[in-house]
Amino acid sequence: MLTVQGLNVSYGAVQVVHDVALEVRPGEMVALLGANGAGKTTTLRALSGLADSANGSVQLEGRELLGMPAHRIIREGVAHLPQGRELFAELSVLDNLRLGHWSKRSDEAHLQAQVERVFTLFPKLRERATQAAGTMSGGEQQMLAVARALMTEPKLLLVDEASMGLAPIVVDQLFDALEQVNATGTSILVVEQFVAKALGHTTRAYVLAKGRVVVEGKSDELLNSPELLGAYLGDGHAA
Ligand code: ATP
Repeated sequence: MLTVQGLNVSYGAVQVVHDVALEVRPGEMVALLGANGAGKTTTLRALSGLADSANGSVQLEGRELLGMPAHRIIREGVAHLPQGRELFAELSVLDNLRLGHWSKRSDEAHLQAQVERVFTLFPKLRERATQAAGTMSGGEQQMLAVARALMTEPKLLLVDEASMGLAPIVVDQLFDALEQVNATGTSILVVEQFVAKALGHTTRAYVLAKGRVVVEGKSDELLNSPELLGAYLGDGHAA
């Protein structure tokens, strides 16, 4: 599905992602972990065409995405749920969903079908359809952000720290929702600070440290592993 090889990303003269290689197989939900500043967000931004200076290779089903503008990458089937949600707080739930559908906006039947699909996945959003997004709880807003990202029927969903600021029980609901989305056939790459939760809900994981993949493996095997701890503690601690 997604194959990343030799990915380098810089901000001006400072390179923050170095030679990253990772893959997400069809139907998989994969975690991208690492301490603050490890380069997770920058990596996701490069995958969706939002990094100014990236080189290497990012292929979706064999098609090279690197170098394509962000709006084309969305049309190729990659949706990005950004850190901080970036909802339109004063617009209704329904209008936020409509905006998520902009890349297919001429297809009204598809819009209706997608609204119905996300309302079935997230019944709370149906109840709140006309409510201003900014007046909902943090958890509901995060569900709306997931729903909005799904409006284009992506093949691959990139999720950047969706759990940020949410109560633990809401984080569980969020991961359950992502698992449901994954079960409908959407592959997911999830950046997460709640390491145990991320490993509990994914099949494989990559751990970044200082912009490099330092550990990768099956999620259940990484949980409690010294390699994982070492990757977070830094040089010299990795087993
Ligand atoms: P966090 O969990 O804190 O969001 P992260 O793993 O997502 O961290 P990034 O946000 O990708 O890490 O940041 C990687 C490095 O790039 C950090 O050293 C950060 O300071 C730097 N960086 C991020 N954004 C910019 C920017 N716009 N300009 C310059 N440097 C940046």
